Amino acid sequence: MQDKLNILWSECQQILRDNLSQSAYQTWFASVDAIQWENNLLVLQVRSQFIVDYIEDNYLDILSRVLRKVFGPTVRLEYRVMMAGSSVDIPSDNLKLQTSSPVAPMVQGFAPIKSDWDSHLNTQYTFANFVKGEPNKLARAAAIEIAKNPGKTIFNPLFLFGGSGVGKTHLANAIGNEVCALNPTARVLYVAANTFKLQFQDAVNHNRVPDFLMFYQSVDVLIVDDIQYFADLKGTQDSFFQIFNHLQQSHKQLILTSDRSPNELRGVQDRLLSRFKWGLAAEITRPDYMLRRDILTYRLHKDGIKLNDEIVEYIATNVTENVRDLEGVLASLLAYSTLTDSPIDITLAQTAVGRLVQLQPKTFNPSDIITTVCQHMNISERVITARSRNREAVRARNTIMYLLKKYTECSMVEIGKMVHRDHATVAHSLNTMEDLMSYDAVLKQEVASIERTLGR
Ligand code: ADP
Ligand code: MG
Repeated sequence: MQDKLNILWSECQQILRDNLSQSAYQTWFASVDAIQWENNLLVLQVRSQFIVDYIEDNYLDILSRVLRKVFGPTVRLEYRVMMAGSSVDIPSDNLKLQTSSPVAPMVQGFAPIKSDWDSHLNTQYTFANFVKGEPNKLARAAAIEIAKNPGKTIFNPLFLFGGSGVGKTHLANAIGNEVCALNPTARVLYVAANTFKLQFQDAVNHNRVPDFLMFYQSVDVLIVDDIQYFADLKGTQDSFFQIFNHLQQSHKQLILTSDRSPNELRGVQDRLLSRFKWGLAAEITRPDYMLRRDILTYRLHKDGIKLNDEIVEYIATNVTENVRDLEGVLASLLAYSTLTDSPIDITLAQTAVGRLVQLQPKTFNPSDIITTVCQHMNISERVITARSRNREAVRARNTIMYLLKKYTECSMVEIGKMVHRDHATVAHSLNTMEDLMSYDAVLKQEVASIERTLGR
């Protein structure tokens, strides 16, 4: 009986192997055994609950189709999980029986699964369609080196940082896609920091942290996107610390992205921050005019659209914040022109750009400005209105006045009231700030980072 079951299950495994990438098959199905087949109920023995969850989330469709083909259309499925740390020969009271899971309807034929399917990469993001420019020069060059030799360059980890929509996610995925193209068996994994956080919490709730760690420690290239979301999460940071160390020691590649530099990441443990700086921290700055123009030209060329230079120049000059906005304007221009069957002229471009500007009014709440500056500069809000003239206090107070002037409708008198200063002092401080902003690189960077936080 068991022999027959083994033969049927081998047949299933063979079909799975043919339809999944080698790494996906090895990771999720190679170690699964069929241990029981009675009254249409098939029981699969799986090494860990994490694998069950992963199979259910990602491969249930193909698994059901295969099982129905081999075991017949009425097959039901249960899993038996070996508890972490136990061997195969564990007494049955250590075995956890899962409830039956519904088997999806059988669909004719098997859709081939792409070999990078389980990497969670966005295959649209490649080096080929990442336009090179001054703002991304260093990050892109390092990314290309890493893709050729993951884990073996000095850029480990690669820490990509910069404002929203400048291309961090794109570039990180491009590395992953290139690694997969050069080495299809590499285990590349892209995960958003928020997803990692939820997976970790779930693992804690279900006593499966060892499985969770084991899984992440088995990848070759780990990409964690938007790592600023780890702030203030001790458990998540502790587990990531372990994974980080393991991967680093086994010369596996880590790629992290964040909306700010390691120095500015608040709420993240020092031991992690110091590790983030071991490799290369590369900033992608806001696209400059040249890059904006090149990206527009590239996109238009790719889509076979002709646009006169005046319009390209107009958009490139006026949409300055990030690449995402640039794409948005282009998309709405094209959509409008197609829908109304009218040519794209400068008036239409002005409308599209105008709409974008309208959508994102650059005003912030004064109290947000005060709180954010104080947090960034690590100073108590009480100091702002106090008489204190120490250097840090003056710097924070001046920055607040500067940002209030720039991003609110407040008059100088109103600004003065907020910081308990008179109009003349505000005027003087604003002058000083203008001056400093033209040559004090540290202050400039700090203000830019505060602006990024405010803009989120
Ligand atoms: P971030 O992760 O920094 O917020 P994304 O990587 O999501 O930004 O980029 C936003 C959009 O802009 C994406 O559609 C991306 O493809 C595009 N983009 C960003 N930089 C470039 C570039 N240099 N060349 C081409 N497209 C880019
Ligand atoms: Mg991103």
